[in-house]
Amino acid sequence: MSAPGSVPAEVHVVVAPVFGTNCCVVAAGVAGAEPRDCVIIDAGAGVAEGVARVVEERGLRPRAVLATHGHVDHTWDAAELCERYDVPMRLHAADAYRIDDPFGTLVGAGAGAGAGAGAGAGADAGGAGAEAGGNAGAVAGGRAGSGTIVSGALARELAGLGFVPESYRAPTSVRGFGTRDGFADLTFGDVTLRAVHAPGHTEGSTLYLLDLPGPDGDPGGRGKGAARSGIVFTGDVLFAGSIGRTDLPGGDDATMGATLRDVVTRLDAGLTVVPGHGPTTTVEHELATNPYLG
Ligand SMILES: [Zn+2]
Repeated sequence: MSAPGSVPAEVHVVVAPVFGTNCCVVAAGVAGAEPRDCVIIDAGAGVAEGVARVVEERGLRPRAVLATHGHVDHTWDAAELCERYDVPMRLHAADAYRIDDPFGTLVGAGAGAGAGAGAGAGADAGGAGAEAGGNAGAVAGGRAGSGTIVSGALARELAGLGFVPESYRAPTSVRGFGTRDGFADLTFGDVTLRAVHAPGHTEGSTLYLLDLPGPDGDPGGRGKGAARSGIVFTGDVLFAGSIGRTDLPGGDDATMGATLRDVVTRLDAGLTVVPGHGPTTTVEHELATNPYLG
């Protein structure tokens, strides 16, 4: 699948200090025509200053803060950036409920949901081998009904850097989008992305596709049978050599299987993959080597 709106663009990755979430600033156009519109994808914990530096240095004008899904290691700094630039947060409607209560929505059945405010936090950074670390984080273990007890690798890492649940804020404007027929083309000023629904890690997990002109300026190499040039931001659906975990609340193995089969393996081989954590890869490389895409 490819995306519309093939125009020059640039992408800056700001790696979050918590779980190494890849926060991406996607700017339209080429340097020299500032201010240029941009969007921010996955504002993880501690990226706000780094993002602000990119925005300032590159002469950018943020139009929205997007999330590939609603897990808190992808959304922690969204409120600060939305406020700073007076823009809404956008994510798939199926994950929007997580934004108000990011820790509560990580609590597994029987692990503290219900009567008490037991909040559990689990690392969500993928299965075997997401380089970003923390991939094998324990899910949650709030003690049922015992107040706010947060455990798990994510919570520990957050707390170690001063990010405690009590200091979390949700953006004031959170707008979910739907994906009729499985995708939606979203436009933010001069930036157009195709949002592709890819549930399994969470209900509303989304891939964002950015189409880029081919090497000769031909949009995506159209008409030449060449592989399409562009970037797909895969969040916690696909990592280099791995995939996202499905054992957190809202995750589902069978759904992930369908996503991998029907969405991920049908991506254009020429796309560069920027996962939610860990190193960049390509669709072609993952199709050839990722054991979960067999
Ligand atoms: Zn996640």
